Amino acid sequence: MNKRIVVVAGDGIGPDVCNEAIKVMERTAGKFGHRFTFEKHLFGGCSIDAYGVPLTDETLDACKRSDSVLLGAVGGPKWDGVEPSRRPEKGLLALRKGLGLFCNLRPAHIYPELKAASPLKDSIIADGLDIMIVRELTGGIYFGKRGSEGDYAFDTMEYHDGEIKRIVRKGFEIAMARGKRLCSVDKANVLATSRKWRGIVEETGKEFPEVQVSHLYVDNASMQLVRNPSQFDVIVTCNMFGDILSDEASQITGSIGMLPSASLGSGSLGMYEPIHGSAPDIAGKDIANPLATILSGAMMLRYSFGMAQEADAIEKAVATVLEKGYRTPDIMETGMQQVGTKEMGDLVAQEV
Ligand code: NAD
Repeated sequence: MNKRIVVVAGDGIGPDVCNEAIKVMERTAGKFGHRFTFEKHLFGGCSIDAYGVPLTDETLDACKRSDSVLLGAVGGPKWDGVEPSRRPEKGLLALRKGLGLFCNLRPAHIYPELKAASPLKDSIIADGLDIMIVRELTGGIYFGKRGSEGDYAFDTMEYHDGEIKRIVRKGFEIAMARGKRLCSVDKANVLATSRKWRGIVEETGKEFPEVQVSHLYVDNASMQLVRNPSQFDVIVTCNMFGDILSDEASQITGSIGMLPSASLGSGSLGMYEPIHGSAPDIAGKDIANPLATILSGAMMLRYSFGMAQEADAIEKAVATVLEKGYRTPDIMETGMQQVGTKEMGDLVAQEV
């Protein structure tokens, strides 16, 4: 298959880690007989420097015309003073919106070799941890009516049936491709939007009889994530709850440089990025961990291109490199072999 991938590497370590993901994806394409072309565009702070805005129409159009987008990270102290409407993060929101990406996938996975990095006790993560959080991305309280006047301010949580149905369906589809267990997280004892959400989960579940469905209130879910995280397979939830729970779940794994993410819409085009930021403190020093971005590339192959075997090959290569004891400084332990960003990319590519 031929695929055209737009790379918006962004700022800070964005270009460092994207280059390694490209290296690994090119090797994977070669091995499996595909052809991937990578087209680089400015985005975020570097786009503000060049064009005055974080996202140009040209970059957005290129992303829309691509088969998928690989994103590094945006932002840094250099652009902290930019007026709010033109800040790098605004570019991120505009890009997600422009591409119609309403579904955010955040896996939280603990590699056996990196268990020590988890802040949880051994006994709690003894059975491993492999959770997929499916978060609604373009609705809910972050997009509802809001205002502030004098001593009063308000935000509104709003959802239409259609917005809930499409994300819940994604949740079921992903559960079908994994362990067939779906936990829907809401606050149905208090919120009207949550009661609607729960009803739609029940209704949609009838089409997926193989999936075991459960419901948790968000306060209980946040507790269960640290008490007994291995009970979860797929969690589906609204924008705000997903924002909070996915950060909590990522901390359980202990290493921010290891976690990929995907944002999907109704078609096959998706945007794939590590969950970490631009880490300006380590940019350009060849010490950033590229594995989150490499694993984001694997997610692109799986979820946008339907290349499950190829995605498996990358994920297995990452696991093997870790088993062999190679570590970037952020996950370094005594007795292991420390490597830089580029060498880590080379090792994974070789393993593929
Ligand atoms: P950050 O994730 O960039 O960094 C937090 C800490 O983790 C730093 O010590 C950093 O060195 C380390 N770190 C992050 N990624 C790493 C990697 N791959 N390998 C090794 N160490 C890594 O978060 P921050 O410091 O809060 O934010 C820095 C900038 O990034 C800010 O401008 C922020 O707005 C931006 N940001 C962007 C995104 C995005 O583009 N999606 C997300 C979060 C933050």
